[in-house]
Amino acid sequence: MSQYANLEQALKYYFGYDKFRPGQRQIIEGALQDRDFLIVMPTGGGKSLCFQLPALLKKGLTVVVSPLIALMQDQVDSLRKNGIAATFLNSSLNSYEVRSREQAILSGKVKLLYTAPERLLSEKFLPFLDLVQHEVGISTFAIDEAHCVSEWGHDFRPEYRQMRTLRKRYPNVPTLALTATATDRVRGDIIEQLGLKEPNIHIASFNRDNLYYEVRNKTKTAYAEILQLVRETEGSGIIYCLTRKKVDELTLKLQQDKVSVISYHAGLSDEERSKNQTTFIRDDVRIMVATVAFGMGINKPDVRFVIHHDIPRNLESYYQESGRAGRDGEPSRCTLFLSFGDVKTIEYLISQKPDPQEQLIARQQLRQMIDYAEGTDCRRTIQLGYFGERFPGNCAGCDNCRFPKPVQDWTIEAMKFLSCVARCKEKFGMGHIVDVLRGSKNQRITDYGHDKLSTYGIGKDRTVDEWRMLARSLLHQGLLEQTADGYSVLKLNPHSWEVMRRLRTVSIAVPVAQKITWEGGSEKAAEAEMLMQRLRALRKKIADEQSVAPYMIFLDSTLKLMAEIKPQNLTEFSKLSGVGSNKLQQYGELFITKIRAYCQEQGLVEQSSNSKPILNLPSDTELMTLQLHQQGLSIQEIARRRNVRPTTIIRHLSDLIEKKQAVDIQKLVPLEHQQKIIQVLETLGDIALTPIKEYLGDSYSFDEIRLVRGIWRQKGRK
Ligand code: ADP
Ligand code: ZN
Repeated sequence: MSQYANLEQALKYYFGYDKFRPGQRQIIEGALQDRDFLIVMPTGGGKSLCFQLPALLKKGLTVVVSPLIALMQDQVDSLRKNGIAATFLNSSLNSYEVRSREQAILSGKVKLLYTAPERLLSEKFLPFLDLVQHEVGISTFAIDEAHCVSEWGHDFRPEYRQMRTLRKRYPNVPTLALTATATDRVRGDIIEQLGLKEPNIHIASFNRDNLYYEVRNKTKTAYAEILQLVRETEGSGIIYCLTRKKVDELTLKLQQDKVSVISYHAGLSDEERSKNQTTFIRDDVRIMVATVAFGMGINKPDVRFVIHHDIPRNLESYYQESGRAGRDGEPSRCTLFLSFGDVKTIEYLISQKPDPQEQLIARQQLRQMIDYAEGTDCRRTIQLGYFGERFPGNCAGCDNCRFPKPVQDWTIEAMKFLSCVARCKEKFGMGHIVDVLRGSKNQRITDYGHDKLSTYGIGKDRTVDEWRMLARSLLHQGLLEQTADGYSVLKLNPHSWEVMRRLRTVSIAVPVAQKITWEGGSEKAAEAEMLMQRLRALRKKIADEQSVAPYMIFLDSTLKLMAEIKPQNLTEFSKLSGVGSNKLQQYGELFITKIRAYCQEQGLVEQSSNSKPILNLPSDTELMTLQLHQQGLSIQEIARRRNVRPTTIIRHLSDLIEKKQAVDIQKLVPLEHQQKIIQVLETLGDIALTPIKEYLGDSYSFDEIRLVRGIWRQKGRK
């Protein structure tokens, strides 16, 4: 500890981060005082750091217990990239490798040892551990995925039960238990089974504020929407499907549409699965289409979106699966497609379960899932409420908060629907009722003589989807019932009759046509994007040379900072979050060289932080642009001539305008556009371009607005 003035310094030195995430600091301080801990943090909360940093600051070896070999390897690789002495022992190693690693541990060279519980507790290993304790000391046991110890969790592993032995054998070594899921019951189990002593219990909020949640109805355009989501989002994504068959179908379709995609499900051989997984983690492919078999123990922090093509069985699974997006804290998107057909499939599967009690629980969980998907409240409020956490709503990061659905009076439609259920003698499901209402010529309808009913064809004015939406809402609001025998026959209840007798009105939340774009990429981001691509390519090249995943070199967030700040030397580079001492040495020069080359090429003034250019004199590069402009060349022509992007020229020109140089705006923006833009600026004031653009609409370009704003600003300064 002594060599660092404070914990922040140690954090920066080893991991390159500037700040602790919520909770990390308190936990680390406690861990340094040898306290036991139960740490419950959501995926991506930054659990690992809670034992990794203390491991480096304490004497001796920290032993990390982790259930999955793949995960171990991944964590050790990541640590080594930060120059940290970590290793693992598991069944993938030969005896020679094991011996040399054991030697390294005994010589005190290793700070973190990862291993699986079955090995840890084996007859052969415990004596080795005794030796370690004697020679170098064991500083801490860190039990990752600690919920595995509980039969009440979703992931029980009997081996974890024996972990108690450790406590008995080494009563003075503190234990940190970590998990991302724990109900009260599981929590109690962890404390008891691991024999934690007066543990500090740290339970973080499960709110993942960088995730955007949305639910869409799965209509005919679902595939097109998925394609659009995939195309408009940068970076990796996971698409979950309910069955292997759907995985295969969707993979094929996406391949045909030239999307970089691979699949994963239990039908593939072990070898194929692990190959596909690595391909995805190393960014050799962008999209993983998978069943829920995929994801356990995947540490990939830069997954930018998770799409659920089919509804998951329960909200907890949904939270975990969608939570694989954005572990690095960067904005990411979670999209769920809801279709009543899928719900039926799951209901059918549930009805096949032998145990009626299990069926009951599964149905209830599915119901909660549907409530979430159909709900009109803030998605976070619903999700977190499920985990017993209160969230006030208005999160601005879910579809319901961004695009609140207007509530409409559908009493008349509800009366039509319910009386149709009555006329069909409460013996049919939703599809049939909708067919009758819409006057379908379906054979089944004529067979039953339902084309003779008074309700036949009275609902042609609404689409099938609209009728289904109404029916779901009626079910949801308890104004209609549905049998749970797998046939989902619609039944009336006393409330239904109240509606039909006009004693009760029916309001439903009607989805509005959703804007599909989000964030929309600010102009600054667009400028940084070209450099970002080159930095990504460099990162990928280095990662391939070292056979590791690109995120282990630098996280996306760090690349973004590079593209934005454009550091020109090692000192500037070292200040970026994510650049620790080791990575600075290893990769600093390589990345700086790329950045400098880009800046020169783009004619960007080298702007070191202590010498800001003097504002009112045009730079050389701006003057060159001005010259060509005055010769009458268009923006495109100047860009081509100077071999830079048109936006760069626009920026030169607008800066030139602000610097009172003779730029001829008449050549660049039509007069009426100029007038309109000025008008808006007069009304809204000097604000960012995006809201101005939103106000003006699509026939105005950012470039025009930027240029006219330049003129307006310059006039204002007179
Ligand atoms: P968990 O195990 O809780 O899912 P991780 O420990 O894998 O989370 O951390 C998630 C990501 O956040 C990792 O990429 C990690 O490097 C990063 N991270 C952890 N702590 C910080 C921090 N203080 N600042 C920035 N990034 C962090
Ligand atoms: Zn919300």
